Parts: sequence; C-alpha cells; structure tokens
Amino acid sequence: MDALIGKTPEELKALAKDLGLPAFTGGQLARWLYVRRAVSLDEMTDISKAGRELLAQHYTVGTLRPSLTLTSRDGTEKYLFDVGATEDGAMGGIEAVMIPDQDRNTLCVSSQAGCKMGCKFCMTGRQGFHGNLTAAEILGQILSVDRIHPLSNIVFMGMGEPLDNWPEVRRAIDVLTAPWGFAWSPKRITLSTIGVMPRLREFLDESRCHLAVSLHNPFPQERLEMMKVEKAWPVTEIVRLIKQYDFTGQRRVSFEYTMFAGWNDTPRHAAALARLLRGLECRVNLIRFHRIPDFPYGTSSEKTMTAFRDMLTDAGVTCTIRASRGEDILAACGMLAGQKQ
Ligand code: SF4
Repeated sequence: MDALIGKTPEELKALAKDLGLPAFTGGQLARWLYVRRAVSLDEMTDISKAGRELLAQHYTVGTLRPSLTLTSRDGTEKYLFDVGATEDGAMGGIEAVMIPDQDRNTLCVSSQAGCKMGCKFCMTGRQGFHGNLTAAEILGQILSVDRIHPLSNIVFMGMGEPLDNWPEVRRAIDVLTAPWGFAWSPKRITLSTIGVMPRLREFLDESRCHLAVSLHNPFPQERLEMMKVEKAWPVTEIVRLIKQYDFTGQRRVSFEYTMFAGWNDTPRHAAALARLLRGLECRVNLIRFHRIPDFPYGTSSEKTMTAFRDMLTDAGVTCTIRASRGEDILAACGMLAGQKQ
C-alpha cells in the first residue's frame, strides 16, 4: 500500500479528491502528517470516520519502527529497520545512526538498501544493491528516531549513495524544509556523496543544504583503486564544479578523508590535497578507518593523522580529526551492513 508520508499538500489534495473526499482533506492530512506527526489515520479526528476508513483501504501513514536498537558505550544509537530486507538474508534491513553530542542529536540516515557504488573500504558497498528507498522510508527513519531523541541535524551519510536516489532524497528534503512540512532550515541537513556529477549539479542548484564529499585520495589513479566512481566522475571535475558555487556564506562544503595506513596518509597526499582544494572555502574531516575483514590496509596512527592535519592547516586548509563514534556497535563510518548479527 502506498504511504502518505512524503507526499506534498497538492498530491494529498489530489488523492483525497480521487477517493471522493473533500479537497480540504488534503490540507488536513498534511497538517496531521507533518505538523502533528500522527502515526495512524485513527488519530486524524477532524477527518470523518468514513473518510479515514476509505483512506485506510488505499494508504498507510508510512510510519517506521526500528526492529532492533543498539546503544554504544559512547551513547551513539543504531537502529535497524526491516526495509529492503531480502529473503536470502544478503540484506537484513537498513540502518540509521543517532549521534548525540552536547546539545545536538544528529541522525545519519540511509537512502538506499545496500549500494551499487562498490567502494572497496565500505561494508555497505560489499552488500551489493537491493533497492532505492522511497521518500516515505527515508522520512520514516527520521520521524521514528525524532520521537525518541528530538533531532537537531540530519546527515545523508548512512547506507547508499543519496545522489544515486536523488528524486526520492530530494522529495524527503523538500518535506523536511518546506513551510508546509517540517519547516527545518536547510542548514540542519548535510548530504554526503562520492560525487555523482549530474545529480550533484542539481543538488547544488536546487537545494541550500550543506554538502560533504567523500574524497579519500587526491590522486586519480590511486582513488580509482578503491572507488570505481573515479572513472566516470573524477574528483578533480567534482572539485572544479563545486568551486563554481558560493560557500563563503551560510552554506558549507566539507571533504571526508578516511585515513588508511600507507595508502593515502603521506606528506605527498597532504600536499596534493591542499593543491586540489586551493581557493575553496571548505573543511577537511579526517576519519579514522575502522578495520573490515579481507581488506589490505589498516588504520593510520594517531601521530600520522595529527601530522597530516598540521600539514593541511599550514597550507591554509581548515582540517579536523573527527572523533570516532559507535565503533563497538558497528555504527561508525563505512561499517553499516544492515545485519542483525
Ligand atoms: Fe556506497 Fe558510500 Fe559505501 Fe561508497 S562509501 S559503497 S557510495 S555507501
């Protein structure tokens, strides 16, 4: 059955009319869904009982509930939702991770079940691709966690490449930011991508959300070893495109750089990275690599990461070493695999 969450007021009005209900039912539905956050049609008491019964024959609200919640020693929480699960167990569901930090609760949401991008260092990439999530399934993760921990920020950094599912991600962002929706500021939302060029352009033109780019290596041949996307959309082209947009005001761009011992953590890499980003108002986040099975590289040492950060800082690039969160519950970057075990 189709979900109501994710639809615009116009679409809600049209579906109400199609069912023979008054057109203003569309406005009532939008208020119940996005302002009052109803989880069932029964709650929508200003819609007639007959109207609610008719709606229930064709639609669900689209609420999600986690089937499993794991809490890390550091307070990070990981939620498993039985969305996109496959019968053979290759895909056990999708995951969202809530990271509390002082007065902020950030939710890392998934946009796809699995991923087709195949980055070699990523557990999600190893799962293969099992389908795009709908806007309702994306918003369902947010609404369900927001009820437990009121959220301050959203990052599209969970399972999947959000720009490979841009129509549904854009719809979810529209609902989050529209005055008739959750009315969030776009500054509360960050989309993370490995660089799907045509969709990136649309994202930059059509939204005001922050951008994070998974860069990981400034040298094309080396990046290609781990990220096959480099062949279609080289990171140099991605950076050139980003430089055409204004990030000197409220909107921010950051570059994620996971550090692998001996692969991308040398002074040669730091110098090339600084050259690549020269002239762009941005931040580089250095991320500790969390070891995964059957992978040739280990984690860069603390000393190497600090030296790398200092080299970038000296070259005029703002750079921080990201605190690692949720490693004990496999919730850290690159560890999401959607498996109950
Ligand atoms: Fe997909 Fe992102 Fe993992 Fe690459 S790093 S395989 S784009 S989820």
